[in-house]
Amino acid sequence: MTARRPGVGPVDRTSGARAHAPAEPAPAGRAAVAAVVAFGANLGDRYATLTAAAREIAALDGVHGIRMSTPVESVAITLSGPDPTKPGYVNAVAVVTTTLGADELLAALQGIENAHGRVREERWGDRTLDLDVIAYGGAVSDDPLLTLPHPRAHERDFVLGPWLELDPDAAVPGRGRADELLAALRAAQDARGAGEGAP
Ligand code: ATP
Ligand code: CA
Ligand code: CA
Repeated sequence: MTARRPGVGPVDRTSGARAHAPAEPAPAGRAAVAAVVAFGANLGDRYATLTAAAREIAALDGVHGIRMSTPVESVAITLSGPDPTKPGYVNAVAVVTTTLGADELLAALQGIENAHGRVREERWGDRTLDLDVIAYGGAVSDDPLLTLPHPRAHERDFVLGPWLELDPDAAVPGRGRADELLAALRAAQDARGAGEGAP
């Protein structure tokens, strides 16, 4: 974690809004976990949606702090590959301190997605809001309903970059340090001359 004042997230440089974390401590008897959540949107007012979603996560029962990265933009990835003709994405990452279980957190995030009009018609289709659990502490699970860490996080620069902004020592459990993963990804992209981005 970077040294920041507790409970205050970095400024969203687009909207000027802050994602505040409630100041109350975690309830006694249940350990708080640092969960990493990835945000993505390529429909609607993408920056406003991400800012609203961060506030809604911060307001959840069982969430005791949130730090939100600076948003980044990326090219849409479809099942056929990067597609610059599709609306571009805004992505961000938040580190969330929570006493929710991982499945409870995912369910709450899916409720927020739905409240923002998320529809699921095609895999990696356009969306108003996508919220993925990238990591939940050091948990590892191959459950298809909640795979931990997120099975594609280590190959997504728009996840690794914003996460590193929040935590320079970030690591994807079982995969390695985020800075090393990002460097390898960028080297491979340079070698291919490929763009960046994905759902
Ligand atoms: P991707 O997973 O490649 O980022 P996506 O975000 O577009 O693609 P969704 O349609 O949002 O995929 O989610 C499909 C399913 O993935 C969800 O119903 C959820 O149960 C499951 N899932 C498994 N692991 C995770 C995770 N770590 N975070 C979020 N959803 C997950
Ligand atoms: Ca998702
Ligand atoms: Ca996703």
